[in-house]
Amino acid sequence: MTLPPSRPHLSATDPELAALVGAEERLQADTLRLIPSENYVSAAVLEATGTVLQNKYSEGYPGRRYYEGQQNIDRVETLAVERAKAIFGVEHANVQPYSGSPANLAAYLAFARPGETVLGMALPMGGHLTHGWGVSATGTWFHGVQYGVRSTADPETDGRIDFDEVRDLARKERPKIIFCGGTAVPRTIDFAAFGEIAREVGAVLVADVAHIAGLIAGGAHPSPVPHADVISTTTHKTLRGPRGALLMSRAEHAKAIDKAVFPGLQGGPHNHTTAAIAVALREAGAPAFRDYAHAVVANAKALAEALLARGFDLVSGGTDNHLVLIDLTSKDVPGKVAAKALDRAGIVVNYNTVPFDPRKPFDPSGIRIGTPSLTSRGLGTDRMPQVAAWIDRGVAAARNGDESALAAVRGEVAELMAGYPAPGLPTE
Ligand SMILES: *Cc1c(COP(=O)(O)O)cnc(C)c1O
Repeated sequence: MTLPPSRPHLSATDPELAALVGAEERLQADTLRLIPSENYVSAAVLEATGTVLQNKYSEGYPGRRYYEGQQNIDRVETLAVERAKAIFGVEHANVQPYSGSPANLAAYLAFARPGETVLGMALPMGGHLTHGWGVSATGTWFHGVQYGVRSTADPETDGRIDFDEVRDLARKERPKIIFCGGTAVPRTIDFAAFGEIAREVGAVLVADVAHIAGLIAGGAHPSPVPHADVISTTTHKTLRGPRGALLMSRAEHAKAIDKAVFPGLQGGPHNHTTAAIAVALREAGAPAFRDYAHAVVANAKALAEALLARGFDLVSGGTDNHLVLIDLTSKDVPGKVAAKALDRAGIVVNYNTVPFDPRKPFDPSGIRIGTPSLTSRGLGTDRMPQVAAWIDRGVAAARNGDESALAAVRGEVAELMAGYPAPGLPTE
């Protein structure tokens, strides 16, 4: 039986592109996606992103636009703003940043001048490019000072943020902004400790919760409120919304943030994205999302345990959240070689630096994995030993150059994932 194309207009107008979308659906259906910054959005979020809201220009904010015809758009954006405020418990929310990086840039524009000092976590230690790292505009136009994690023999402190270093750097450098949060941080962020340091030195504390916003919304990670002055987050990672971002704050910073986003940095907001953010926030406010957030963490802990049992070295020895950072040095396989082999085995991860990595960022020692996507597919903790076993076989096959072992894993992965459908994916 031949099914009609699910996108008849796209298929007719641009069959080449339609085929690529279809192939991506197939890939997302058949593989075990372990990239911790990715997810599967709901069918409702997918629908909202593909609406005529995308036809509108609406520079400005609800009730204060530079364009007419905003009767519906104003209400869409207001819904998104009110839901963000309710879920995160903040006084102000801006839902217009195009993505996480522009949201962070807006924070710089609001609270620092070029050349002034910002303190953030170093990229190889788990921070994000936009926290003042050298190759980023934020490290070129601003003076970026970077903190890291500890390397100790004590499992309680090893791989954890070194708050003595953060405090010493803050006192010495007097940064305008301190960033906390990161992209490869497997442990709970101590927002209170950062807040105390920021207040002592008069810095604005930006909690960049891009990776963990869904865990915060679902009560599976402490909230940065009331310790942070500004909260920046993407909407497309654990929060499970469309690709976009939020900047939130207390009322006192509302004007500065809004001015920085528009007209400071951006033009018209992406209204179809705003609509989908509103939908995702409605979903994140439902009881089922609390279950989701806690299941993400339970899966990550179970996966970490199963990997430890197989002799893998994990940065900080485990995880508190959705993310596990594996140091492959002891397995004698570089991160990139392992990541590429696992991809051929249908297990999608990214190669990543580990703290104090002796290798180069483009060819580092680790891989980074996470459980937001597989939890959205419905896999539970009982499946994590199997996932760890596949990773183990994939890494061993990478070391031995055993392509047939990778092909075997790929078949087993596809067979399991066929039993766990997700919105927008082919099921047959
Ligand atoms: C993903 C991420 C960003 C950037 O988001 P983009 O949408 O990729 O621009 C910023 N900060 C942190 C901590 C992130 O994890």
